Amino acid sequence: MSLFFRSALLFGVGFLTVGLAAAEENAPPPRSVQSSEPNPASIPQITFSSVHVDGPYVAMTFDDGPHTSLTPKLLDLLAAHHMKATFFVVGQNAAEYPEILKRAVRDGHEIGNHSWSHPNLGKISDDGVRAQLRKTDDAIVAAIGVHPMLMRPPYGSVTPRQKRWIHEEFGYKIIIWDVDPLDWKRPGPKVVCSRILREAKPGSIILAHDIHPPTIEAMPATFDQLQAKGFKFVTVSELIAMAKPMPTKASASPPAAHVPSLGVSPDPARPADSQPMGAAPAQSPDG
Ligand SMILES: [Zn+2]
Repeated sequence: MSLFFRSALLFGVGFLTVGLAAAEENAPPPRSVQSSEPNPASIPQITFSSVHVDGPYVAMTFDDGPHTSLTPKLLDLLAAHHMKATFFVVGQNAAEYPEILKRAVRDGHEIGNHSWSHPNLGKISDDGVRAQLRKTDDAIVAAIGVHPMLMRPPYGSVTPRQKRWIHEEFGYKIIIWDVDPLDWKRPGPKVVCSRILREAKPGSIILAHDIHPPTIEAMPATFDQLQAKGFKFVTVSELIAMAKPMPTKASASPPAAHVPSLGVSPDPARPADSQPMGAAPAQSPDG
């Protein structure tokens, strides 16, 4: 065989190998997350408004605290119900009541960053956003000794570009919600309770605020009835750790026992940080 033919052969084999490797990379993942999205497994998920899980798990989240009397009252309730929750704290409150944060963590709850003074992050400069998050992260570390893993933008307002650099710089996952009882409007404990009961489904991230007395008043009945429906309460990070791929039509698993439905809200961060869908608005009157 001449040198030319040997080189041509080697080149051909090399080309074929590269070609196969490229084809493999472009092949769909073995267990597709959502068939409608292009290769979603390769896009790390930054934003969550709910999580696809295969059990009756939900995450209760409480924003804007800690509050000097209401948050400890809520912690008592959560302990009595053997529930875990997530608190998205406002930094200036966290700095004022570090003992409440310490207790929350001791009780098994999670702390997330909800900015220092609750501005609309979508409307302030990058440096302003950075200062809001940094000061709050520092206050949380001063109280509980560890950095938070999560942040929730006030009013759910954050641009796709901000999400990306916040995630890169702070490592935070951005947490929205899919159940919003609008408790900050103080519609009364019964309404808050019935709205949460009506909307909660497996994988839900439920929004409420531990700075409004009627919200805390609504919680005993809300917790009792959600537990009676079979729901189990975990922190947001625990819920995310339970994420399962979206079932394809052919391999949909049967619903778990005691679970009303397995519906799930689409993730607003994928595929391209498009507008949030479902019940989690980009800008809610509060968050
Ligand atoms: Zn808020």
